[in-house]
Amino acid sequence: MNEKEILVHACCGPCSTASIERLIAEGWKPVLFFGNSNIFPSSEADKRFEELLKVAKAFDLQVIRQEQDHEAWLTQVAGLEGEKEGGARCEKCFLFNLREASRKAEELGFSHFCTTLTVSRFKNSKMIFKVGEQFPSFEAIDFKKKGGFDRSLVMSKEMHLYRQNYCGCEFSLHD
Ligand code: SF4
Repeated sequence: MNEKEILVHACCGPCSTASIERLIAEGWKPVLFFGNSNIFPSSEADKRFEELLKVAKAFDLQVIRQEQDHEAWLTQVAGLEGEKEGGARCEKCFLFNLREASRKAEELGFSHFCTTLTVSRFKNSKMIFKVGEQFPSFEAIDFKKKGGFDRSLVMSKEMHLYRQNYCGCEFSLHD
């Protein structure tokens, strides 16, 4: 496998836009991985996946979709349901999704993986890195740096992407 190939955990289409653009500019060859068992309901996951496909098509990239296992995700965050967004529940959520991405990277022979979660202004990159660094092939790339978040807004608008108004799980629906 080419050294610069990277499996990109993609949380949604809008967050993937600027992240992918930056990765390609920096010489990476991304393959997208949609493994987001946190998303509720499943129709919302389908909707976000459809938007990701539009982004993948624009960049001519392969996308791998993992089947949702929301029950397993609920077990992971058990006891933390009432936490505020950005707290301990989210750290467990990152752990769940990054562990899945790490497993997929290993299974497919990727030496590197990263996540588009860091592009969001609403997500703490330090917390994501703390979780990700448990996995040897994790690349700590902060996509919100270099104007990434604003760029993702511009690109999402240009591509007419659906932008969700909640993070993903049922507990974030009312935040
Ligand atoms: S608010 Fe977002 S990051 Fe936090 S647990 Fe829910 S889906 Fe995961």
